[in-house]
Amino acid sequence: MDSQQLQTILKEDYGLDGDIKHLVGYENANYRLTSDEGLFVVKVFLNNPQELAFVGVLSELESWEHADLIPQVRVTLNGQQIIKRADHLIVVLTWLSGRFYKDFDISPSFAGNFGRILGRLDKAMAKVNKIDLALLNRPWDLANYQEAAALSVNISSPLRRLLVDYFFAQVDAISADQLSGLRRGLIHHDANDWNVLTDGEQVLGLIDFGDTAYTWQVAEIAVAGAYAAMSSSDPLNLVKELVHGYNSEFPLQEEEVEVLYYLIALRCCVSVCYSSSATSLGQDDYVAVCQESMFELLAKWIQINPRHAHNAFRDACAMRPITTPDQGEMREAREGGISSSLSLSYAEPIAMSGGGLQFMYAYDGQTYLDLVNNICHVGHCSPKVIQALSRQAAKLNTNTRYLYPSLNRLSKEILKSLPDNIERIFFVNSGSAASDLALRMARQFTGRETVAALQSGYHGNTSSAIAVSSYKYNGQGGGGRPKQTIEIPLPSEGTKDFFFPSHNPPAAIIAETVVGCGGQVVLPEGWLNRLFDQVHEMGGLCISDEIQTGFGRIGENMWSFQQQDLDSDIVILGKPMGNGHPIAAVACTAEVAANFENGMEFFSSFGGNPVSCEVGLAVLETMDEYDLQQNALETGRYFKGRLEQLADKFPVIYDVRGSGLFLGIELREPSTGHPATELAKILIEEMKSRQVLMSTDGPDNNVIKIKPPMCINRDDVKAVVHHLSVCIPMVQRKLQIEG
Ligand code: PMP
Repeated sequence: MDSQQLQTILKEDYGLDGDIKHLVGYENANYRLTSDEGLFVVKVFLNNPQELAFVGVLSELESWEHADLIPQVRVTLNGQQIIKRADHLIVVLTWLSGRFYKDFDISPSFAGNFGRILGRLDKAMAKVNKIDLALLNRPWDLANYQEAAALSVNISSPLRRLLVDYFFAQVDAISADQLSGLRRGLIHHDANDWNVLTDGEQVLGLIDFGDTAYTWQVAEIAVAGAYAAMSSSDPLNLVKELVHGYNSEFPLQEEEVEVLYYLIALRCCVSVCYSSSATSLGQDDYVAVCQESMFELLAKWIQINPRHAHNAFRDACAMRPITTPDQGEMREAREGGISSSLSLSYAEPIAMSGGGLQFMYAYDGQTYLDLVNNICHVGHCSPKVIQALSRQAAKLNTNTRYLYPSLNRLSKEILKSLPDNIERIFFVNSGSAASDLALRMARQFTGRETVAALQSGYHGNTSSAIAVSSYKYNGQGGGGRPKQTIEIPLPSEGTKDFFFPSHNPPAAIIAETVVGCGGQVVLPEGWLNRLFDQVHEMGGLCISDEIQTGFGRIGENMWSFQQQDLDSDIVILGKPMGNGHPIAAVACTAEVAANFENGMEFFSSFGGNPVSCEVGLAVLETMDEYDLQQNALETGRYFKGRLEQLADKFPVIYDVRGSGLFLGIELREPSTGHPATELAKILIEEMKSRQVLMSTDGPDNNVIKIKPPMCINRDDVKAVVHHLSVCIPMVQRKLQIEG
C-alpha cells in the first residue's frame, strides 16, 4: 500500500487529514500521521488477525488509571477499531511523546519508577478478559525459546555462539516442572528501550503492544530487565531496582525470582538468535539494532554469579537470602573424613557452587575467571557436553562387552586426529590409569622393566606412574628415584644430550612435550626426538603424555608431540577428554596392541562406557563447532604477547613460555636469580582476591601456570594482564617491607 492510498483511507475512514511519514519498525509498517487533530501512529499489517490481538487488549485498558501512558485506539468515523483495505489491516493509535529511554544513561531511580509502572500495568492486564489468548502465541515468547535456540547457528562469532548456547542449555537444565510451574499472565512482553518513552526520570509512555503475550508472568521483568541491564555499567543493580519497583506493585513469587537471572539472559539469547539469522539472510533488520549491546550484556552477565543475582533479586523483593553452607563447617566435615594428603588451594579455600564456561562461581557470590582448569577444556558446564551426558545417562550406561556405536565413533574421531601409525585405542577412566596401562604394554612388549622419564615429570597417581614421576618421588614425602627408573635431567643452556647406558636398555621413555608439572618447560627443538631415537634404536617404546597438553590446547596442533614431530608408539590422553567427566585413553600402534593381545582380557568397568563416549564426542564436537583450537592459537598468542610486554616492565618475570593456552610465567629475583617462590605464592593469592584463579608449579613453585578453558577471550586476557600489572609491584613492595 503506498502513502497516497493510505492518506486517502485515513481521510475517508477516519476523517484525519495530514502528512504521513514512514517509521522504522519490525514486522508491520508504521507511519506517523500529523493531522489537525494532532499526532497519530498508523499501523498497517498484512492480513493476519494474530498480529492484531493487541488492539483488544488496548481497548480493555482504556479505563486503566494510567491509560494516558499507553496508546489509545482511534476508531473510524463509524466506530471500527480495525479496518481492512486492499488486503491490509489498519489500526490508528494516539501518539505518545517523550524520548526513548535508549537515549539516556538510565538511573536506578528511573529503573525503580519503570518497574512500578510495569507492575501496575500487569495488574491491569490481569483483568483483561475479553480476548482470545490463543491469538497471543508469539515466536518471541520466552516460553517458546526453543525455536530461537535452533537459530543460534547463525551467530557468526564462535565464542559468542558458545555463550548463547551456554545460556540456552542453562535454561534447559532448569527442571521442566519448575518452568511449567511458572505463573502465567498477560504481559506487554517487550518493554525494551525503544518502547518506553521518558524524560530520563519518569515513564511518559509505553508503546508497541504488538508482542503482548499470555506467558510466564516473570518474562515481563526479564525482558525489561535485559534492556535496563544493557544500558548500564552496573547491570545487576539496575535490574535490582527494576525488580524492586515491579514487586512493590505486582509481588513476584519465589519461583519466579529464582529463574530471573537465566530468563534475562534468555531474552538476550532469543533476541541475538533472531537478529543474527536476519543478518545472515541479509535482511534489512530493525532487530539487529541492539544485537551488539545484547552480546556485550551476555558477556557481562555470565560474570555475575547466579547465586549473587538470585540473592540480589530476593533482596529487592524483601525475601530472605538463600541459605549458603557454612564454610567452616564444610571444612570441618571434610577433615572428618577426607585425608589431609588431598590439598586445598589458597590460604582461605573457596567453596565453589557453580561454573559457566571460563568462570567459576563461589557460594559467597564471587565469580572467578578460571586460568587453572585445563580439565574443563571446552568450558565449565559446556552446553553440548551437559546435553550429551544427561541424554545418554537417561538411555543406557553399560560397558565395552556390548556393541554400541558411540565407542566406535569416538575411537574413530580420536584416531583420525593422531598420526597414521597410531591405530588402536583403549579407554580407561583417568590419566593415571592410562599411564599405568601404557607402561604395562611397553613392559610386555619389550620384556624389560626399566623406564626412562624426564626430571620434574608427572604421569599419575598409581604406583607405576609415581615410579616414573620425579615430580613426586623427588618431592615432599617422596622416596627418591626407584631403581628401575632412568631420570633424564631437563636440558638447560650448555648441557650435553643425555645418552642411555647400553647395559640397561629401557622398556620405554614416557614424556610430555611441554613438561607441565615441571613448570611449563618447553623442550628445545630436537632434544626429545634424539632421546626417542635412542630408545627406538635400543628396541624400546616411546610414550607421549598428552594428558595436560592435548586436544588442541597448544593451538598449533591437536597434540603437542606433533609440534616437535615426535615418533610416538603410545599416546596417553586424559583430563580434557571428558571436560571433567572421567574418561581417558591409551592410543598405540597396531604392533603394540597386537603384542598386548596375549589371551588375557583387558577390561575396564567404566572405560569407554556409552555415557563417557557421548561426552568425549561432545567435547570434540564443541571444539570443532566453536573453533576452540583456533581460539587457543589466537587468544594464546595475544596472551603471550601481553605477558612478554609485562616481562619488559617487571624484571621479576624471568621467562614467559609455552604456546596456545598452555603458558607459564617464571618468576625469579632479578638481583640473585633465585626462584621467587614466595612472590609467586602471594601473587596468586592477590590475583584470587581480584577474582582470577591461577596456580603455581615447577620444582620451586615459582612458575605461574596458565591453562584455562579454551573459550577465554581477549577481554579476559586484558583483565588478567591489568591485574598482574597492579599486583606484581604491590606484592614486591609488600615483600620488601616485610624484609
Ligand atoms: N599425566 C600428566 C601429565 C598429568 O598432568 C596428570 C594429572 N595431573 C596425569 C598424568 C594423571 O592424570 P589423572 O589425574 O587423571 O589420573
